[in-house]
Amino acid sequence: MEKVVSRHFDQENSHSFINYLKDNGYRAARKALTQMTPASVIDEVKKSNLRGLGGAGFPTGVKWSFIPQASPKPKYLVVNGDEGEPGTFKDKYILQQDPHALIEGIIITCYAIGSHKAYVYVRGEYEKPLQALLTAVEEAYKAGFLGQAVMGSEFDIDVVVHQGAGAYICGEETALLESLEGKKGFPRLKPPFPAVVGLFGCPTVINNVETIACVAPIINKGAEWFAKLGCEKNGGNRLFCVSGHVHKPGVYELPNGTTLRAIIYEHAGGVLNGNKLKAVIPGGISAPILTPDQIDVKMDFDSLKAIGTMAGSGGIIVMDETTDMVWAAMIAARFYANESCGQCSPCREGSGWAYRNIKRIYEGTARPYDLKNLAGIVNNIGGNTICPFGDALTMCVGSYISKFRSEFENKIKERVCPI
Ligand code: SF4
Repeated sequence: MEKVVSRHFDQENSHSFINYLKDNGYRAARKALTQMTPASVIDEVKKSNLRGLGGAGFPTGVKWSFIPQASPKPKYLVVNGDEGEPGTFKDKYILQQDPHALIEGIIITCYAIGSHKAYVYVRGEYEKPLQALLTAVEEAYKAGFLGQAVMGSEFDIDVVVHQGAGAYICGEETALLESLEGKKGFPRLKPPFPAVVGLFGCPTVINNVETIACVAPIINKGAEWFAKLGCEKNGGNRLFCVSGHVHKPGVYELPNGTTLRAIIYEHAGGVLNGNKLKAVIPGGISAPILTPDQIDVKMDFDSLKAIGTMAGSGGIIVMDETTDMVWAAMIAARFYANESCGQCSPCREGSGWAYRNIKRIYEGTARPYDLKNLAGIVNNIGGNTICPFGDALTMCVGSYISKFRSEFENKIKERVCPI
């Protein structure tokens, strides 16, 4: 299978500028700047069926075309490297192992959308990836690939690298913009959408690191080649992060549309100790959980949506038969309670109530009506909040209750503290 984004990961000094140049590095950027119009770059990316790989799965070329070119305001590209979704650790590898692939993608994207300034927002905890990116940006400036008259063209591009400070919610695109502007990372009400009113009130494209890293290969080898790697409407491969009860956890680049069963049993070595599979989170903690009878699903945005979950950020968490699902739900709820930005009441209050409620059930001190209360709390958050974080809580915790209800009921009946 042909690797795209991870093709350099296993090479020695994969992050180095020299090695990147040796493998036709920056050829796609030169091609875009000298032989293509911005509109034809957007067209190529549209035809490639590249989707937003941060979680939303929105068609990338279509998103770029929303930028109002007639606007007199500056346009910005913001690259979201604030990878905080539990179970997700792929962008880290791109930043650390192949930062020039990201920079080349940035050059092409900026050219396509008419932006002369890009910001890369890197998760605060990613110290090594941050340093690798900073070095690569410096190298690109020295080589004339960034700065004024990029590669001898008439196009100027500046790249600013910004380190986050550890808040999960700053990975939400509008909270990220607020944070970049020096404010508290509170998500914004939409509309207006960032394509029209984004960073500093200007038209802005926000794309995930992996998405932008796919752009140069598309320009190099063509949209048709990329689209054919994946499946219908989901072009290319994607990086799947596999963790939990498997023999070989790690990051696997595989075609969109690979089945979840193949990822777990063929690539990740199967369930640990030959145990039975109990549940799988298919796309980061916010994706509703799946049961073993659902793992023949194709791992692409549309197939996962069709069975009531989502491809999200590509973070697959495998749980075997030894997993206490009430415990797992409690950990998820604690995450939401800790990371809610507190801006809207249903999420701020509901996340804490949900966590405390599940904790009581887990610890054997729940009252008989606590499960009904829990379902009520969780269902009243989704759809009533400013950003999708509230919906994610409802979908995630709600899926544990609906799919493993008997475990919750038994804990309430038995009233045994497992600690
Ligand atoms: Fe903040 Fe939660 Fe409201 Fe999102 S849903 S804005 S995280 S309080």
